[in-house]
Amino acid sequence: MHTIAPLVSRKFFTLLLFLFSMNSLIHAQNQQGDPKLTEVYTPVPNIVTPGNTVGQPPSDAIVLFDGKNLDQWRAEGTDTARKAGWKVEDGIATVDKHAGGIVTRQSFTDYQLHAEYRIPENITGSGQARGNSGIFLACVGNEGDQGYELQVLDSYNNTTYVNGQAGSIYKQGIPLVNPCRKPGEWQSYDVVWTAPRFKEDGTLESPARVTVFLNGVLVQNNFELKGQTLYIGKPFYKKHGPAPIKLQAHGDKSEPISYRNIWLRPL
Ligand code: MG
Repeated sequence: MHTIAPLVSRKFFTLLLFLFSMNSLIHAQNQQGDPKLTEVYTPVPNIVTPGNTVGQPPSDAIVLFDGKNLDQWRAEGTDTARKAGWKVEDGIATVDKHAGGIVTRQSFTDYQLHAEYRIPENITGSGQARGNSGIFLACVGNEGDQGYELQVLDSYNNTTYVNGQAGSIYKQGIPLVNPCRKPGEWQSYDVVWTAPRFKEDGTLESPARVTVFLNGVLVQNNFELKGQTLYIGKPFYKKHGPAPIKLQAHGDKSEPISYRNIWLRPL
């Protein structure tokens, strides 16, 4: 008896240890296999009523142009009280090259943007002088073309430098493909813009990023900008905050293009 008792208790102890280990293992497996552990119930996303068709503004959009007037816009330039000088007719706004570009009255940081444009059917010219306009995703000054331009151009059958064709981030980002439609047909841009961030001392904290769909086709995939889009010279960043959006009135001699259905959702 004296010799068996310790043996029994050792065996019993080993069994207990085994059972305890198995229990821990099963418990750990149950934890891993419990779907509730990865289910999150807050915050509940806001309810947004989508447009009746893709491309129409959802209920939470800021409508920048619905075909009626350009009240949400002003003329570009230092006189910020000057009204947008483009003609609105039949639900569309047509560029007036003498009146200059138009700038939103509101400023934005990060956003989703939808805009539609049409190169006129009778367009003439070539290269950069054929239906040139542009969407400045952030217009950061009241003089000249300061900011970040998403190019608008007739690139249906029109050769130019590829980092300046439709769908390009001007002189920085070549579009992934060319999904342009013929002159005379409406085309759409859908943009996700992440503004650059700057430190107190003016240096860059994080660069601007942009994703662009042209006619529903991805042409810029989370593209990182190197700075403002310049006609001459290398891009650079200069500190700015929220900024308006500008539609460009390019000075070339080709027939002016038109815009319609422009809306934005701040992010
Ligand atoms: Mg342009």
